[in-house]
Amino acid sequence: MRRPVVAGNWKMHGSRAENTRLINAILEASDEPACEVIVCPPAVYLWEIGRQLKDNRIALGAQTLCADSQGAFTGEVSGAMLKDVGASHVIVGHSERRALYREDDALVARKFVAAQAAGLLPILCVGETLEEWERGDTEQVVARQLDAVLAVAGVASFGRAIVAYEPVWAIGTGKNATPDQAQAVHAFIRARIAARDAMIGDGLRLLYGGSVKAANAAELFGQPDVDGGLVGGASLKADEFVRICAAATSGRA
Ligand code: PEP
Repeated sequence: MRRPVVAGNWKMHGSRAENTRLINAILEASDEPACEVIVCPPAVYLWEIGRQLKDNRIALGAQTLCADSQGAFTGEVSGAMLKDVGASHVIVGHSERRALYREDDALVARKFVAAQAAGLLPILCVGETLEEWERGDTEQVVARQLDAVLAVAGVASFGRAIVAYEPVWAIGTGKNATPDQAQAVHAFIRARIAARDAMIGDGLRLLYGGSVKAANAAELFGQPDVDGGLVGGASLKADEFVRICAAATSGRA
């Protein structure tokens, strides 16, 4: 049985005061979350939030990392540094990184490897653009993104990773994939990994991301291959986020 997981991607939002309010509200409302909960604030806040979460069951994730481990990479943050300030997870290959910062499949694969080398659990994002969706190329795109990582990191590495299917057209648009659409792509991803290693495919946790909110979470998370969500906008509202976490648990009951 795969343990459900919900990760909140705060993107470039927050301040020390706002973060404290949000974390406190989440902690108050979710005493003993039955699903795994991860919050991913901007890197500069990781240390402080990590301390606020200490002894709690909420894990800390970063939103990206440098593919290199140290050196002359001005502005970058290494996996070891993220680990050092308390992160246990890191998002890799988010569509905003792919589109806005030109992270291609090869770089995403290097980041995935760097994350694991630093002892972090990568949350690998894959997903098609609106244009690709309209052309019917979803499986082709997702396969290419997965294969790039498989080629460099090997299938065994997926035993220490989470994969998030995030159709780009659904991110921040209010337009989520239907549960059937999400399930179909999740089943495709699982089958692609399982074809190389059945046990790893079966155990791999697959998150859906793209306009998840409390109102649609239960239906999405109720699909057999949807093990939780990667949540952007709704993770900035404590009550909404806590209800999404609850849906991840009940959806798998
Ligand atoms: C995301 O940022 O990964 C995301 C899924 O955003 P939203 O939930 O706002 O669509």
